[in-house]
Amino acid sequence: MIRAGALIDGKSDTPRHNVAIVVRGNRIESVSDAATARIPAGASVIDLSRATVLPGLIDSHTHIFLQGEDPAQGGYDANILKYPLALRAARATVAVRRALEQGFTTLRDLETEGAGYGDVGIKMAIEGGYIPGPRLRVVTRAISTTGGYALEGYAPELDMPKGAQLIDGPVEARKAAREQLGHGADWIKVYMTDRSWIGSHGELVSQPTLTVEELSAIVDEAHGWGRKVACHAYGGIGLRRALDGGCDSIEHGLDMQDEDIAQMIKQGTWYVPTLAIYYTDWSPDGTVEGERDRKRASLHAISFQKALKAGVKIVFGTDMGGMPWTEPIAQEFPLMVKLGMSPMDAIRSATSRAAAMLDMEGQIGVVAPGAFADIIAVSDDPLGDVKVLENVQFVMKDGSVFKNEVKGAAPPPPETRKHKK
Ligand SMILES: [Zn+2]
Repeated sequence: MIRAGALIDGKSDTPRHNVAIVVRGNRIESVSDAATARIPAGASVIDLSRATVLPGLIDSHTHIFLQGEDPAQGGYDANILKYPLALRAARATVAVRRALEQGFTTLRDLETEGAGYGDVGIKMAIEGGYIPGPRLRVVTRAISTTGGYALEGYAPELDMPKGAQLIDGPVEARKAAREQLGHGADWIKVYMTDRSWIGSHGELVSQPTLTVEELSAIVDEAHGWGRKVACHAYGGIGLRRALDGGCDSIEHGLDMQDEDIAQMIKQGTWYVPTLAIYYTDWSPDGTVEGERDRKRASLHAISFQKALKAGVKIVFGTDMGGMPWTEPIAQEFPLMVKLGMSPMDAIRSATSRAAAMLDMEGQIGVVAPGAFADIIAVSDDPLGDVKVLENVQFVMKDGSVFKNEVKGAAPPPPETRKHKK
């Protein structure tokens, strides 16, 4: 039994005070007034009467197989070219533990970046009880087209490994989706744009990748399996194709026009903006890349605000892994609030609304009878300052309590720590 001073249940508009939450096994049995609650005999009591209790948080855009690769240490490419898969898997176990300790009890992990079906393995290890970690929804390899994904920039004579599965044509597209679904993908991830740059009129241009026909084949296949499709799309042609092809969620959506937003409303498309990642690691001001990085962030803010005003279903996502796992995951909350979302709505985007996107409504993202016992607590009021969610004090997943005690992710692999020759 948990005694909660305040309860933000993940669904309601206002918190409740002095609440008793009875947990039996891995489920919540009842939620009632502490004063009149019937406490089962022999129940152990967790006293959170001076804290605010919430459902376990959900990050719907992560990469547990990335570690915010430092270009000075070989960047993204070194992961694929130099690190054994076992090392990458070991570091992913640290990433999932860090997420859990910060109160994120569910992740939708959006591709392994060259680590194949490693996410399915990590998910099995968590579900088997071998390692601590959040509930995972995984996409495995992700899909893009020839010329549409790293590793890029090598001699054309070299046949380089790729961070995603590359397809050309609807037949290959459908085959890739079938392979990934067959090997355990819960969602399919598609890259609908790749490179981006500033065009001759100062606009952000994004290179489109799959055609509508290619994407439609994937969406048709995934929907047949009862699964959904997440589309990375910045804007322009690629974003329009993503919507015309029937994507279920738009990832990033840096540069969304009014027509795009209207189509998202009409189709019920989810929007996972991942704001924080676009505020990190800007190239220097005055450089071509620096100009692009600033343009991306400013357009992104406008797109987010337009989507919020129009009533698009906005879901919390961070792109963790793009940033090191040593960074606080909850840093996304204050950015959402700064752009006009209420703290309660921002919390819902990481609880009940994310649960709805993941087809787990009532199961996760809510403190209510019948839901999994994923429960967290913070000592201050997140509605006063949403930043306090960076300091989760209590974490329970499926009825088991975890401590937030490990600081920092795994150190970089030994070879990158050596002094430069
Ligand atoms: Zn991502």
